[in-house]
Amino acid sequence: MSVLALVHVDSDGSMARPAREAMAAAAGLASQLGSPLAVGLIGADVSAAAAVAGGCGAVRLLGVSGAVFGEPRYVTDAAAAEAICRAADATLVVIAGTSRWSRVAAGVAQRLGGRADTHVTRLSAEGGAVSVARWYYRQRIEAVTSRSERPWILLVEPGTQEPWDGPSVAIPIDMVPVTLPAIRTTVTGVRAPSTGEQTIRPDAAVLLVAGAGWTKKQPDGQTHVPEAEVLILGFLKGARASLGGSKSLDDLSGEGQAVLPFMTHLNQVGQTGSSPRHRKGLATCCHGEEPHVVGWRFISERRAINLNPNCGWAQGKTDVLYVADAFEVMKRVNGLLT
Ligand SMILES: Cc1cc2nc3c(=O)[nH]c(=O)nc-3n(C[C@H](O)[C@H](O)[C@H](O)COP(=O)(O)OP(=O)(O)OC[C@H]3O[C@@H](n4cnc5c(N)ncnc54)[C@H](O)[C@@H]3O)c2cc1C
Repeated sequence: MSVLALVHVDSDGSMARPAREAMAAAAGLASQLGSPLAVGLIGADVSAAAAVAGGCGAVRLLGVSGAVFGEPRYVTDAAAAEAICRAADATLVVIAGTSRWSRVAAGVAQRLGGRADTHVTRLSAEGGAVSVARWYYRQRIEAVTSRSERPWILLVEPGTQEPWDGPSVAIPIDMVPVTLPAIRTTVTGVRAPSTGEQTIRPDAAVLLVAGAGWTKKQPDGQTHVPEAEVLILGFLKGARASLGGSKSLDDLSGEGQAVLPFMTHLNQVGQTGSSPRHRKGLATCCHGEEPHVVGWRFISERRAINLNPNCGWAQGKTDVLYVADAFEVMKRVNGLLT
């Protein structure tokens, strides 16, 4: 059995956290199996990453480089991955479950006559039998799967592993030639929100969830949306927190009501939203209904602020429920943060 960690190198030559997580997962699997580990690097220039990758116990480094491989594009990503998998003769291929890799993994597995599994959260090789764990039904059921087909491509869910962070060791890199078919896709640029607008921070220690209550009439009979905006943004800035939202709050924008302009559907947490992995979470003005709370599966320390002592959070879904006015509480909290 041979294990291959396959990673994309960023445009600045570094390896992003999901790539280093996949590398650490592959190294752990190889050591459990007592199998050799190879690392495959793909990017415009892989030389800086090669020195780092050599430190994770890899006995072999393989690379595909050139400007054309720096950009995410199905045809080039799939061809590079296929070439490295063949050169490494890998039976287990561990890659990060990023959108870029998720797009090509199944196609590469098909070309190699293997299989791919996504959203892997744990890898194990007990007694030499490899199995992986993943969640189903919006994180309600965890299943452990094994397969006999090889190569087996495993997309590791970002945020589930400790990233590789060891000493750099220089080992020689074998550059793998790739025969590319005609390229019909041109990358014309990247559009990303400016950092000031960025409210989703997967690496943050704290998640603040805003619910629809922030936009509802308050005890004085008025709505206070501008004040809510200042309080929420103040907490995000002061605590370097990530922002989640309930479906009701996210949907308000579609209904033409007063809304928080920095909230989009990407912030939605829950059954039809995301299941972020922050250590702590604070729900504010959010009722705590099951389709929302199921998105909190991976938040280990939970607190909620709600005026209603009978809200959903009170039904055992949070560690601490503050029965209080979130406007008042967050004003005090933000004061402590400055
Ligand atoms: C198939 C399906 C999928 C769904 N998927 C999702 C999903 O992915 N994510 C999701 O969030 N929902 C989802 N929902 C909807 C979910 O059931 C709830 O309707 C939604 O989460 C409610 O949002 P909310 O708690 O923000 O709003 P509300 O239910 O309107 O609650 C607002 C809360 O704010 C409180 N409040 C008001 N003012 C204050 C104040 N000053 N201080 C403190 N508290 C205050 C109120 O007491 C109230 O509890 C789904 C539903 C279905 C049927």
